[in-house]
Amino acid sequence: MADLRELYQEVILDHTKNPRNYHALADATAKADGNNPLCGDRVTVYLKMDGDRIVDASFQGQGCAISKSSASIMTESVKGKTRAEAEALFDRFHELITGKPGASADPKTLGKLAVFQGVSEFPLRVKCASLAWHTLKSALERKADVVTLE
Ligand code: ZN
Repeated sequence: MADLRELYQEVILDHTKNPRNYHALADATAKADGNNPLCGDRVTVYLKMDGDRIVDASFQGQGCAISKSSASIMTESVKGKTRAEAEALFDRFHELITGKPGASADPKTLGKLAVFQGVSEFPLRVKCASLAWHTLKSALERKADVVTLE
């Protein structure tokens, strides 16, 4: 098994120590909570939508470095995107972190999200890295208020 420390690259550490958009959104139009009981990660994602476009995104929560940094980078990545663009980005990010054979996700086009590529070697960490995204999807779809990863 590869050393877990390989996951903790500079970008991940930076976003763990100084998470971006780490606050509640007073004028949020959508919100959802996520739960990853396996690791104890919890996240709340806030969105401000203008029609179909995400004009602002933020989060709050507690959890491991992977879950926190992933949520931080996610909020940066989806700002300004439409719902469809954000969901497409999640699909590609998910392919990257699950290491699907023949995945179309080219890390180079994923920007900062590519730092999570190493997560694919650690199946339990996939849930940590994807929690914020599943929660985002729930907020976008306005389905359940709480997402719990099985
Ligand atoms: Zn975790």
